[in-house]
Amino acid sequence: MIGIFGGTFDPVHYGHIKPALSIKQALNLTQIRFIPNRIPPHREPPWLSVAQRLSLLKTALHGYSDVFIDERELNRDGLSYMADTLKSLRSDFPDESLCLIIGMDAFIGINTWHQWRSLFDLCHLVVTTRPGFEQNTIAEQMRASDYQFLSERMTQDINEITSKKTGGILLKSVPQLDISSTHIRARLLAGEDVSQWMPEEVYLQLRGFIDDD
Ligand code: ATP
Repeated sequence: MIGIFGGTFDPVHYGHIKPALSIKQALNLTQIRFIPNRIPPHREPPWLSVAQRLSLLKTALHGYSDVFIDERELNRDGLSYMADTLKSLRSDFPDESLCLIIGMDAFIGINTWHQWRSLFDLCHLVVTTRPGFEQNTIAEQMRASDYQFLSERMTQDINEITSKKTGGILLKSVPQLDISSTHIRARLLAGEDVSQWMPEEVYLQLRGFIDDD
C-alpha cells in the first residue's frame, strides 16, 4: 500500500514529518508520497512561493528511503483537488492500494471537498490524531447523512484496511505535536524562534528566505 500525504507545507514542520513516518511504519507502506499543492482550494494563497515550499520539503525529506515528493499538483493548472490527484495516482499505480493520510482537522471538513464521496472509490483514508481536534466533534459538525456515510467506514483495525483495496477509514493515533504552519508563520513574523519545530537544515533555509526578503 502506498501512502499519500498532501498539504500546503507552508512551511513543512515536524507535525507533518513525524505522523507521516509513523503511519508508514505502522501500516508497512511500500512508499509514502508527499504531495505539495499548488493552489489549495480551502484556504488563503500560501505565504511562501512554490519554489520555497518545495525546496524546504526536499531538505526535510532528504535521506529517508521510500519517501518521495510528488510534484503532480504543482504541474497541474487550476485548484489542487485531491480527487483529481488520486485519479491520476490510480492510473500510475493500478495494482497498488492507496491510502490518503490526513489529520483530524482536515477530516472534520472532508465533506466539503470536491467530489468527496468519490475519494472512497479511489483510496482508503488514514486519519491521524491532532491536538485540539477531537473525533467526537465530527458528528456535530456535519450533516447527519454525511456523518453516516463516514461512520460506516470508520475502523481502528488495520486489518480492515489492508484486506480491501479502497473505502476504509482508519483512525490512528500518532505522536502528538501541537504545531501548525500558521503558528510557525506568526512566530516568525513576530521575530520569535521556531527552530525546534523542524529539522535544523530546514530552519536555516527558511531563515535565509526571510532574510532575503
Ligand atoms: P496551516 O496552519 O497553514 O493550515 P498545517 O500545519 O495545518 O498548515 P498543512 O500543510 O495544511 O499544515 O497540512 C497538511 C496535513 O498535515 C494535513 O492533513 C494536516 O492535518 C496535517 N498536519 C499538520 N500539522 C499536524 C500536526 N501537528 N499533527 C498532525 N497532523 C498535522
